[in-house]
Amino acid sequence: MKEDIIFNLKQVHQRMENACKSSGRNVSDVKLLLATKTVSPADIQIAIDAGETLLGENKMQELRDKNPALKDLKIERHFIGHLQTNKVKDVLKYVTCIQSLDRLSLANELDRQLQKEGRTLEVFIQVNTSFEESKFGLPPTEVLSFIQKIKRYETLKIKGLMTIGLLDVEKEKMRPSLRLLRKTRDEIYAAEIEGINNLQLSMGMSQDLELAIAEGSNLIRIGTSIFGNRFLGKEIWNENIAE
Ligand SMILES: *Cc1c(COP(=O)(O)O)cnc(C)c1O
Repeated sequence: MKEDIIFNLKQVHQRMENACKSSGRNVSDVKLLLATKTVSPADIQIAIDAGETLLGENKMQELRDKNPALKDLKIERHFIGHLQTNKVKDVLKYVTCIQSLDRLSLANELDRQLQKEGRTLEVFIQVNTSFEESKFGLPPTEVLSFIQKIKRYETLKIKGLMTIGLLDVEKEKMRPSLRLLRKTRDEIYAAEIEGINNLQLSMGMSQDLELAIAEGSNLIRIGTSIFGNRFLGKEIWNENIAE
């Protein structure tokens, strides 16, 4: 419903603003990405008309299906789902950033394809800070050496780190995985790698956006609180479900 989406968007911006205020941060330091998996182009359009410009999709198929409706709009699309190497070429047709870079073989394939196309791509490195098997991402202790390995790829612009935090009904159970992403970034900074000194943190979803902002998030990714439930129950957070 149009009114609902507009109302929900206002609520989310209000929550972001409140969270920034109570943690002494600038509202302009935290951006909103709309997580639009399963959301129709018509509903996405409502959010865009309300001023949103950043979308994230999890599946190549959805990027492709929604592309005719979205391709001429002034928006930016990121890929936020698990990316299979054989889908790289297709996904690159639609996005300017991949937030789920989690392995060397994927970096290699991205570089190969980007070189062919003569372009660069922004990437976030996905980190598994909740240590759940249902999620992808590098273990926090491996992120530093991963960055040292992929730094040589001139096609990949390392923008930051991404995590899907541990979701729980108890707030304080969600905090450690968010804090760990920030700590991982601090350890990378401490290693003083040339050119790696401005890493964004992509973390915070419908349930944990306040905590994520308190823990230093620069980019929150919201689906449910804006577009409503996706009716998938618990299994939405199993990233292993086949595409
Ligand atoms: C679906 C999704 C989100 C948004 O989650 P909500 O709980 O619906 O706000 C954020 N990040 C990723 C990677 C997602 O797949």
